[in-house]
Amino acid sequence: MTQAMFQVLIVEDDSAIRGVLRTLLEAQHYRVIEAENAGRGSIEARSHRPDAAIIDLGLPDRDGLSLIREIRDYSPLPILVLSARTLESAKIAALDAGADDFVDKPFSAPELLARIRAVLRRNARGEQQLPHLRLGRIEIDLTARVATGPDGALHLTPLEFRLLECLARHAGMIVTHAQLVREVWGPERAGDTRGLRSYVRMLRQKLEPEPGQPRYIVTEAGVGYRLILDEPGPERLD
Ligand code: CA
Repeated sequence: MTQAMFQVLIVEDDSAIRGVLRTLLEAQHYRVIEAENAGRGSIEARSHRPDAAIIDLGLPDRDGLSLIREIRDYSPLPILVLSARTLESAKIAALDAGADDFVDKPFSAPELLARIRAVLRRNARGEQQLPHLRLGRIEIDLTARVATGPDGALHLTPLEFRLLECLARHAGMIVTHAQLVREVWGPERAGDTRGLRSYVRMLRQKLEPEPGQPRYIVTEAGVGYRLILDEPGPERLD
């Protein structure tokens, strides 16, 4: 499927931001539908059946959250939220309402496009088997649970593999602390994020070229973590 076939709905009341998004997406051959409020967004989502939606939370007629919940009631459509960098609770609320990810305003073009590709990939991938991961010079087979670095086999504990697997299923997208604890440790440990932090630290020590400056397992302050994979493609020059 080429990007020309992907249709993206933008729900944002700020016409300048809508314009920037349109230009950016059309330059990558996405087709764009615009809506300036939640009511219009709701109509366009139902009539056009877009492949993804970018939704601003602060809309003039009603809360972006209610639009996300409404769309989630009838569609698995990937939803990306535009949010203020500092509003962690709003981001968590949007993810709980069914959004797949968020992009902080002001956003950078490569970041926004990477997020869009990630949510579209998630949708296309469906329930397919887990990927082989390559983090720089480290190769990880998540099915066989084998990790290999430049100096040979790397030992990861079963919990570390589970954690990595959970991040990899959502590669490129945010995974919240609550979701990670639930999926890796189980629902009875919900709310206990201390263990999570120490396991993330250990994983970084094993997998990151510079554990103090992680480039693969990235922290989203106050919200969760994101696994960023190297993307080959026209935007990367290195
Ligand atoms: Ca707004």
